[in-house]
Amino acid sequence: MLFNVDDITGDGFQIKTRKQSDWVTNIPELVDELSDLGLAKDIDFDLTVTRIIREVSVNGLINFGIRARCARCLSEVEIDLKSDVSLILSPRDESFAESGEGDLDHDFYEGDTVDISGYLRELIAITIPINVICGNECKGLCSNCGINLNNASCNCEKNLKKSAFAVLKDIKL
Ligand SMILES: [Zn+2]
Ligand SMILES: [Zn+2]
Repeated sequence: MLFNVDDITGDGFQIKTRKQSDWVTNIPELVDELSDLGLAKDIDFDLTVTRIIREVSVNGLINFGIRARCARCLSEVEIDLKSDVSLILSPRDESFAESGEGDLDHDFYEGDTVDISGYLRELIAITIPINVICGNECKGLCSNCGINLNNASCNCEKNLKKSAFAVLKDIKL
């Protein structure tokens, strides 16, 4: 998403656009067919770009949905995600060259062209949770027989307790 600083006039302008998973080049898992992670919904951007002299502000919201595997029970889940966009971009002045890459909410642009794609991609990456769970009540899988305890039950826990007791009895003997 590129624009020219001089095109930001008056109340600024809006960017309303939609991108697909192949746009998020920093998260290759999203397009990898073998990966459990994927986009369930395209990425919607609703951003307002304004400027005060040479300082550019980008504010708004990103909406998207992902498909992932529950970290506990491995079932497929779809969750909606949102990220607030609040970015300030300053012109990179030669004399400030040592000020580095800036932090996540403050970036720099060179010349007259502002590119916010890198920032938006990074924001999407940090919005995706590392561990997705299907719900707080998810009981997960039995660590012994692997059955999904959300919709079935097994006797493993009972049997494990029994065998632990048996071992104790053996020690006593
Ligand atoms: Zn689950
Ligand atoms: Zn079990």
